[in-house]
Amino acid sequence: MSGDKSGGDAPATKLVHAGRRPEWTHGVVNPPVYRASTCLFETLDAYEAASRNPDAGLYYGRRGTPTQWALAEALTEMEPGAAGTHLFPSGVAAIAAALMAATSSGGHLLMADNVYEPTRVMAKSVMARIGVETEYYDPTDSDGLAPLIRANTQAIYMESPGSLTFEVQDVPAIAALARERGLVSILDNTWATPLLFPAISHGVDLSVQSLTKYVVGHSDALMGSVTAAPGAWQNFRNTALRLGQTAAPDDCALALRGLRTLAIRMERHGKTALALAEALSNHPAVERVICPGLPGDPGHALWKRDFSGYASLFAIALKPGDRKALAACVDGLRHFGMGFSFGGYESLVLPVNPLRTATRWQTDGPMLRIHCGLEDADDLIADMTAGLDRYLG
Ligand SMILES: *Cc1c(COP(=O)(O)O)cnc(C)c1O
Repeated sequence: MSGDKSGGDAPATKLVHAGRRPEWTHGVVNPPVYRASTCLFETLDAYEAASRNPDAGLYYGRRGTPTQWALAEALTEMEPGAAGTHLFPSGVAAIAAALMAATSSGGHLLMADNVYEPTRVMAKSVMARIGVETEYYDPTDSDGLAPLIRANTQAIYMESPGSLTFEVQDVPAIAALARERGLVSILDNTWATPLLFPAISHGVDLSVQSLTKYVVGHSDALMGSVTAAPGAWQNFRNTALRLGQTAAPDDCALALRGLRTLAIRMERHGKTALALAEALSNHPAVERVICPGLPGDPGHALWKRDFSGYASLFAIALKPGDRKALAACVDGLRHFGMGFSFGGYESLVLPVNPLRTATRWQTDGPMLRIHCGLEDADDLIADMTAGLDRYLG
């Protein structure tokens, strides 16, 4: 998109400037919230001109106003090489549109075995019903992927690090394979955001984010986005528009506010997550810490090669223990709330049970996913350590 004045600036600088076109902000810092369905045309001439080129300016609320355009453009600017971004009312809605745009009835979809569970449910229900077959692959075996490609394969879906178990995929290699074979590559980039992993410049066609997480950053809005490479943009945008997908302007304003502080929050999230993961790795209740940011994790080398930082999330597999011990651990935590999602300023913990079909995931005890918020790292370490002490009884 035009209007990008950020050129070769560093990502943290781009986050400050991105999407702030003067014609959208009219001299204030943030673009105003335009609540609109109807946009009025002053003359018959203006109406006819807009109908011929609905992308030239305001047309109808579903196609966005400067509030949505500013957020979409800012996200595009965070993905060097991208052609555009479409916004969605949730991350799951964004995933649905990506799958719909990349596949058709009779097609075959290759999906990483560690994807976010609602993505798996969507493949099994909606996508199966429209005649798209999904086959799961081992996310850590990129060499094993090419032999799975069939004549009717249409897309390869990735998520890296994957949900709950954080395996790191060789995204550049898989995206290159997809491009070579004429398949659409889709990456759920929610864990990293374009700040830690600019997916389009690594060869991905459709980069999906649940903006609900780090971009909104304050646990008060749901939103999703898909940023597309030039070759995938037109088809993707048409599909999203025809599906009627749009995001509310008030939510976009919240996401824009969150976006401005993303770099500094991610830096803090990552630092705290690595400190807590490291501290917990020596606790007698812990069987294994699952955190590709730590040396010794199977995904560490790829994470180090491809990502410019760590996010807030990791998991711990506990030594065997009963439900009462688990309840004693999580119910007494002072700083970690129990709930879904992540990316907010407040720390979270969630007992999880990964579901796998193409690979095996086995732990003997319960597993906890941990999101480190913006609290002081030492307070979080003390709180979680006390919780694990209670687990041991
Ligand atoms: C949360 C999440 C989503 C879904 O996002 P919503 O905005 O909650 O619909 C998709 N992918 C991943 C990896 C997520 O963590």
